[in-house]
Amino acid sequence: MPRAAAIYARISQDREANLLGVTRQIDDCTADAARRGWPVAEVYVDDDVSAYSGKHRPAYRRMLEDIRDSRIDAVVVWNLDRLHRHPKELEEFFEVCATAGVSQLASVSGDVDLSTGEGQFYARIQGAVARKESDDKSRRAKRKHLELAQAGRWSGSARAFGYDAALRVVPEEAAVIREMAGRLLSGESLRTLVKDLQTRQVPTVRGRPWCMQTLRNILKRPALAGFRSLRGEVVTRGVWEPILSEEESARVRALLADPSRRLTRPARTYPLKGFLYCGVCGMKLVSRPNHGQRTYVCGAGNGLRGCGGVSIVGEPLEEFVTDAVLFRLDTPALAEALSRTDSPRDRSADLLSSLRADEAQLEELARAYARKQISLSEWLIARKEIEGRLAAQRDRLQRTDHQRTLRAVAGQGNALRRRWPELNLDQRRAVIDTLVDRLVVHPAQRHRRTRFDPDRVEPVWKV
Ligand SMILES: [Zn+2]
Repeated sequence: MPRAAAIYARISQDREANLLGVTRQIDDCTADAARRGWPVAEVYVDDDVSAYSGKHRPAYRRMLEDIRDSRIDAVVVWNLDRLHRHPKELEEFFEVCATAGVSQLASVSGDVDLSTGEGQFYARIQGAVARKESDDKSRRAKRKHLELAQAGRWSGSARAFGYDAALRVVPEEAAVIREMAGRLLSGESLRTLVKDLQTRQVPTVRGRPWCMQTLRNILKRPALAGFRSLRGEVVTRGVWEPILSEEESARVRALLADPSRRLTRPARTYPLKGFLYCGVCGMKLVSRPNHGQRTYVCGAGNGLRGCGGVSIVGEPLEEFVTDAVLFRLDTPALAEALSRTDSPRDRSADLLSSLRADEAQLEELARAYARKQISLSEWLIARKEIEGRLAAQRDRLQRTDHQRTLRAVAGQGNALRRRWPELNLDQRRAVIDTLVDRLVVHPAQRHRRTRFDPDRVEPVWKV
């Protein structure tokens, strides 16, 4: 077992491979080293900006020195093509390792894994023994995969929903993707969308029934916006026609990446769940069937921390709230409030460009570390800050979705009222959510207990 492993990462001069991200390379390598139980002694990063040949790589040379001096006894790289580009370099590397007694070289992508294929590797350098045909084949296949990725080509075996085998857009499937992305962004759940696809008997690629994981995987692929990705990371522009705009795709991915969206969440049957709060103690009301009626209560006991002082029957409350929301959508005050805010289109364009700027800055920072202009700890601190900013921007991008939905329904109160019976629960909730921040429910007056009392409900509006 090695005592001091090195991680080697290289920022490549070609733009495409560059997008693989040096941060990602290091993260993957760190995880790989941890899995093998190798303690990492140092991270070496080179900035390979200039031409391919005769390139000076200070960090690489430093690593070789450290191997020679036995300060390093194992090397982890993301991919072997990060380590060497010339057979000559490889030979030297091998010599140094052999002299120092270092035999452990691991690559995360596994297309060439020296820890098992070391003999083969040796053999190739010395031009001696032939490799096993099967190993060779699998290695070639994996490399082909990467090459295709880097050239912006498709490399999966099965075709992807939305495209035929020749990567031409399948119009019916593209329409389904656009519809699903749009509905997801306007607040519908994956569960509802899957149910709809099942009901409509939309065929999947493999002919199996739709499930949430299938739809999720389809919608979150950067390929829909024309990007080729490898293991979740954008590599380059694809050669095919996009189905979603870059912006839509980014919004869908931000939304699906939200850890609070769990796939296992049960379908909602209570349209106002999450909007209602107790007027006495301020806790969220919970839904509870009572004699076959939907009821919202301030839960007390059994781990619930409410006061138990409020209970309200669901149906008349839901009708009342729906009426209030639909009425408010058509008021001139709302139209005026909207005219004062920026259009979400402008805002998300800004957000997308600052997202890209921050991503570029992360790369720049890695370069500065590679050039030894900053220390590892400075790099990690700055990286953490930028990553925090990135997370906040993705969050804001998601919030522009709310503005979009609001703009789409503003002034449509009457039309929505007619369509209300056809809307599913998610769609109804999305409309309510455009305007309602919360609804505070006060306890019932004794003499009015028998019927619904609108005075008990105090809406807090978003707009
Ligand atoms: Zn309460």
